[in-house]
Amino acid sequence: MTREARPYVVATVSVVALGTGWYLAFATVGAGSEAIAYVFVPVGGVFATASVLHLYRRGDLDPVARRFWRGVLTAAAAMTFGYGWLALDMLTHAAEAHTRSMPPAAAACVAAGFAVAIWAVGRVPVVPTGGERWRMLLDRTIAFLGCAAVLWYAGLAPMLAAAEPWSPQAMLLTGLAFLVTVGAATKVSYIAGGPVDRTALRLIAAAGGVTAAGVAVLAAWFGISASIPAQAIVMPLTPVLAALGVAAQWRTGAGPRREPGRVGILLPYLAVAAVDLPLVAIALGAPLRWPGRVVLVVAVVVTALVTVRQYIAFQENARLLANTRVQEERLQHEASHDGLTGLANRALFRDRLAAALATGGHAAVLLVDLDDFKAVNDLLGHGVGDRLLVSVAQLLRAEAGAGGLPVRVGGDEFAVLLTGAGADAEELAVRLLAALDRPISEYRLLVQASIGIAEAGPGATVDSVLRDADVAMYTAKQRGKAGFVRYAEGMGEPVLAHMQLGGELRRALDNGEFQVVYQPILRLDDGCAVGVEALVRWHHPTRGVVGPAEFIPAAERTGLIVPLGRYVLRETCRQAAAWLAAFGPDALQEAALNVSARQLHDPDFVADVRAALAETGLPCSRLVLEVTESAVLRGQQVSRTLHELARMGIRLALDDFGTGESSLSLLRAFPAAIVKLDKSFVDTIEIDDGQPAAAEARRAVARAVIQLARALGLSTVAEGVESAEQAAVLRELGYTLGQGYHLARPLSAEDVSGLLARQQTVAIADL
Ligand code: C2E
Ligand code: CA
Ligand code: CA
Repeated sequence: MTREARPYVVATVSVVALGTGWYLAFATVGAGSEAIAYVFVPVGGVFATASVLHLYRRGDLDPVARRFWRGVLTAAAAMTFGYGWLALDMLTHAAEAHTRSMPPAAAACVAAGFAVAIWAVGRVPVVPTGGERWRMLLDRTIAFLGCAAVLWYAGLAPMLAAAEPWSPQAMLLTGLAFLVTVGAATKVSYIAGGPVDRTALRLIAAAGGVTAAGVAVLAAWFGISASIPAQAIVMPLTPVLAALGVAAQWRTGAGPRREPGRVGILLPYLAVAAVDLPLVAIALGAPLRWPGRVVLVVAVVVTALVTVRQYIAFQENARLLANTRVQEERLQHEASHDGLTGLANRALFRDRLAAALATGGHAAVLLVDLDDFKAVNDLLGHGVGDRLLVSVAQLLRAEAGAGGLPVRVGGDEFAVLLTGAGADAEELAVRLLAALDRPISEYRLLVQASIGIAEAGPGATVDSVLRDADVAMYTAKQRGKAGFVRYAEGMGEPVLAHMQLGGELRRALDNGEFQVVYQPILRLDDGCAVGVEALVRWHHPTRGVVGPAEFIPAAERTGLIVPLGRYVLRETCRQAAAWLAAFGPDALQEAALNVSARQLHDPDFVADVRAALAETGLPCSRLVLEVTESAVLRGQQVSRTLHELARMGIRLALDDFGTGESSLSLLRAFPAAIVKLDKSFVDTIEIDDGQPAAAEARRAVARAVIQLARALGLSTVAEGVESAEQAAVLRELGYTLGQGYHLARPLSAEDVSGLLARQQTVAIADL
């Protein structure tokens, strides 16, 4: 109990003790007039009122709590005043105290106090809203009627029927006190924790209840003479309980709010039990006089109300249950289906496959992966990409038939699970590819797919079947797109190694396992290095140095080529700038690096290049970006990027020139500055088998390329020069620059520095 509340509680308890002491003395030795009995209530009331006032003046009380306690304060003051008046009246007419009843004005004061208390309790906000409000109203009505029946039967009716009947004032006040009690008690269950403390509200309820019940019971048992112990002992308990209620609120203050309790649920049942008590008394032989009949009527009403309440609760439960069921079904569907296409998802797919394997029946999986879906997303936007996926899903649903479960495995990967003996996986694959041969979706897009087929053999597990299908699909992609491959024994190893690579790349990038080497590009006449091409190497912790041919495709597939390419770009620019600073502008004209299609699709690519140049201080004119023909032919976005780079003054080289399909037309549309004659045209260029026509045919492409380049004003570099003979023929054809193992192997940056240093010394010596 808090320091603030304690003195009031002590004071009110002392008043009860005094009252009890006095009554004992009065009953045994007849101490003084019975008018003294009336003094204790107002004295206790003064203390109780003071305690409420003290609480009310506290600063941090919640507004709702403040309003409630203001009501209690007014009620306590009015009642104390009323009972004080009664006490004065009794003391001044001590002789006739036994027969005197309460002055009506004083009774009115007390009654007004009760009315204010009822009002204050009524305004404490309750939690329920809407439908629950009605149930609460029903519950409280039931509770009220139940309690009222008891009070009536055990208290008011006997008071009325007593030989010396009680004054109407006494009965009115008892009734009002009872109203406060039931109102507050039934409300406690419905107020959430605070701002009015629940214990406080319970004690306020008890304060009214003690008066009502105590006085009624005493009256029923002892008749009118009960008014003396009622006044001296029972009624002074009211201030004690009020002071305790105040103490409870002090403790809570503005503290944390608690969850509403669930006692409310029990209320109607308690009320039924209460109304049953008088009925049991009647059943046991108490005469069924008119007060008993009233109880019977009340019992019938209460039963009816409880029935209504149960019916409402039943309906509510049924509604909730139906809701839950719908929700559950929806959740289940959501958990097992893909939101975009409505197809079964990976989880359901695995479940069904597991079920098929468990029964030992036939099961085949077709894994369908769209080719180049990413390009659609990148070029036409995700909205178009989504609609394309939906169209593919529709197509899958139509072709899969009754025995097949179409699935969206994720991203642009689909699957069909075939169970049942009649299903032919290959036939379905052919049908699917044929269906995809026609443009789909409202954009009339042509998409192709690679399909891997795996059949569940004996001892197969869900994972093994899916892995086989994956390997087969991957192999189908490798063999050129738009086809299907059925898994065969031994197909897995190389593919799995390749797939594993993808996972390792990320780690390698984080661990800094990549290094850039530089292959010099030399003048064919004097062997002087005029440029370098940056080539990336992977220093694998267990496999040693891994060449780009092995991991660039995996890096492109996983998108890791973008950060990897960014690394090569920075490293090359930094190194080229360092060489420029160390050996001057004439030593090395340019540094070239390879850019893959995926990088050109990256919207940040131009910005990355700008940043790398700016940060390293390398002039634009000294950077060459090598792109392959197939990368250049990747649509508008790539074309825009290339033109922008060219406008910046960066030179673009067409790599592996001559191997593509549209080299010539490409040169017109593409802002190339350099063409790199592919190694395959250099390889046999020097062979002189004594047949001039055949030798000339082998040189035809190399000759055509140099003529074309001259006509268009482009530089040339011959790639893959492996011998002095090749170099000689190339020079003869008009090539001035070459790159190849015969001229120089890819070197570390230090080795290139050494080469440049030697070159410089020679140049100075030549002067
Ligand atoms: P590429 O652009 O055609 O690069 C030339 C490749 O030919 C290099 O192989 C080089 O080492 C090799 N080479 C040079 N001279 C000779 C020769 O006389 N004989 C033979 N047989 N080969 C020669 P490397 O370094 O293995 O690179 C292979 C491909 O990987 C490159 O072909 C390029 O397309 C790609 N690549 C390399 N580094 C990068 C990079 O940083 N980014 C991207 N996107 N691709 C890269
Ligand atoms: Ca290259
Ligand atoms: Ca090349």
